[in-house]
This record gives sequence, C-alpha cells and structure tokens, in this order.
Amino acid sequence: MMKLTRPKRPGYLDNYKKWGREYNEKRKEGLKPKWHKKIKQWEQLKRDLAKLTLDHCSFCDSYPLVAKNKQTVEHFKPRSKYPKLTYVWHNLFLSCETCQKAKGDNFNKKLLKPDAIEYDFNRYFIMNFKTGKIEVNIRASQEEQERAKITIAMYGLNHFDRPKARSDYYKWLKNQIRKQKIKINQDKETLFYRFMFFFKLNLLSTEAQINRYLTTKGPPFGFF
Ligand SMILES: [Zn+2]
Repeated sequence: MMKLTRPKRPGYLDNYKKWGREYNEKRKEGLKPKWHKKIKQWEQLKRDLAKLTLDHCSFCDSYPLVAKNKQTVEHFKPRSKYPKLTYVWHNLFLSCETCQKAKGDNFNKKLLKPDAIEYDFNRYFIMNFKTGKIEVNIRASQEEQERAKITIAMYGLNHFDRPKARSDYYKWLKNQIRKQKIKINQDKETLFYRFMFFFKLNLLSTEAQINRYLTTKGPPFGFF
C-alpha cells in the first residue's frame, strides 16, 4: 500500500452532501440504488482516481488495472454502513476486485488509509521477501501494530496466492534487471507492488547502485 497524495475534490462531486442524503433515504426505504448513476462524469472519476495511484490498486498496488472488470471504485467507509459518505471524494479509491471483495462491507476505525497524512508503508509494515508476505513492523507502537494487522487482514493482503505472486515477481524483476530489460528508475511507476522497493530505492542515487542492490543479495528480510 503506497502513500497517496490526494488533490482537491473535483467539481463534479460538489453535490456530494445532497446525493449522500438522497442515497441514505433510498437505503432506509430498503432500496439499493446504483450509486454511481448520479455521477455523470463517472468515467472521469475513475480516471481521476487512477491518476492518484498511477493506475495501481490503492491497497495491494497491483498494476495495471486496465481490464474493466478488474477496476473498481472502493468506498473506504462502506456504503452499507455510511450511506451519507457514498459521494465523499476522500472516501473513494481505485481498487482491484480482489481487495474490494476481501473487504466487502467491513470497516474498522483502525484501518489504515493510504491518503492519510501520517500513513507510511515502512512505519507499519515490513516486507518479507522470502515468503512474499507483508508483515507487521514489530518496531512500531502497539497501536500501530494493531492497525497494520487489521489492514492486512481486511484487504486480504496475504490471502490466496498473493505472497507467492510477490516473491515470484521479485525474482522475475531481479532477472530482468540482470538482463538489463528493466531500469528501475525509469520504469518504477509501472512496477507491481512498488512499496516493496521504494523505501530503499529512494536512498540509492544511481541506477548502478540500485541494480547492484537488487541483483546481488536483495533486501535483507525485515530490513524495510
Ligand atoms: Zn488490490
């Protein structure tokens, strides 16, 4: 989960309060209206959310979310429990289907939000390159550890084949770098799971340093 910097609310969501109230009323009547019908600039909204993440999933960072069925708009606070927040700009995220399905209608106040000012991957998590699992950073405070644990569980970040996909990707990437088919600095926005690499990469200044780092030993486990 990369940190996101969200720009100001786009004008086409100016009616978010009114629409939220109307949506809430419909829900109270037991109806389940198609929420996105209100937004005439629906395609624009998706593009704007995609700009925020550079086409990656806001939670697992998978990329690219080009296939229509894989790209969804996720409500951080679910519509079923917070109907009035349905059209709130800060509640909307581009998400892959896997993350969205894992979370479903669940919410917890401790869930980490990628566009929160205090959020930073390395503060809450560590990457285990051997298993491909995202783990809780044991150096974080008890409260932070709890938040990390809830976030991993709620978005299913270690469910299914996800850890394997990450460690396979890491091996593949090292190979590509060795063959000089990928240059990290140049291609970094199109990498899968950018959070796995960015912390260290930001500290390394030259392409040669980065390549040496990724192709020789790789990041030590728990280093991040
Ligand atoms: Zn995802």
